[in-house]
Amino acid sequence: WFGAKCQCIRYGLNRCPLQIASLALILIIPFYLGSGGIVGDVPDDAYIQLSLQSCLATVFVMGIFSWSYYHRHILENALEKSTRTDPLTGAANRRFFDKFIKLEVLNSVSFKRSCSLIMLDIDHFKRINDTYGHPTGDRVIRQLSDLCVHSSRKNDLVARLGGEEFAIVMPETKSSEAEKLAERIRRSVEETTILSDDGQPVKWTVSLGVTELVSESVSREIQVSAFVEKFIQSADSALYQAKNSGRNQLIVRNLVLG
Ligand code: GH3
Ligand code: MG
Ligand code: MG
Repeated sequence: WFGAKCQCIRYGLNRCPLQIASLALILIIPFYLGSGGIVGDVPDDAYIQLSLQSCLATVFVMGIFSWSYYHRHILENALEKSTRTDPLTGAANRRFFDKFIKLEVLNSVSFKRSCSLIMLDIDHFKRINDTYGHPTGDRVIRQLSDLCVHSSRKNDLVARLGGEEFAIVMPETKSSEAEKLAERIRRSVEETTILSDDGQPVKWTVSLGVTELVSESVSREIQVSAFVEKFIQSADSALYQAKNSGRNQLIVRNLVLG
């Protein structure tokens, strides 16, 4: 809201020269018409009254202009936000995740920084839907999203990749740090109980795959999208292994590029 207000004021200020020029013209024109003899002598009080009214009209029009800009700005912000967020959870959507991870992999390769990725998938989620109903399933998905957002740092990106699958991209983070976060989330989920629509306690668990991208001797010319694919595949296969090893656990698998 504050940002939008600032934009509105900035927009008004940007047009300051235009406003001053309009006001000056409004003040000068009656004087010019009067002194040039075009409209005869203009009495002082009529001149002041006319100028004042014109000034007020100009300020009013500028106010409406700025106000409509402010509303347009709010709508544009809402539209832009809807293109990058998932409507159910408010987390980033797949499209934004793809953009973000590409940029982070590029940074990681260019500056030899580490970057970690956590993939999460709710265990036996179909059963939750079948037993307690779809709305309860939706609440479980939202709960996992909130847990991920509250547990992660400001620079991390939490995204819903689809269904009951989430990802957390952690720029400049080693897998040891990512593993700690993943374990914190796994334990929080295990300790969380939500109530179904008919008041029954619902217990659920999550499996996680953690990968760190290690790119020590990689040429910058190599295609970033190929790295991104390998990075996601690596986290995915760690997640798959966690599922196959009995679920409600995390597996770490580092990806060394070179
Ligand atoms: P696993 O432990 O192997 O991950 O098993 P699972 O049952 O969690 O996985 P599966 O892929 O068989 O089931 C996922 C289910 O998620 C199926 C689908 O109906 C449900 N689902 C997908 N999107 C949504 C959603 O937005 N809301 C709800 N409530 N369910 C969803
Ligand atoms: Mg699942
Ligand atoms: Mg799944």
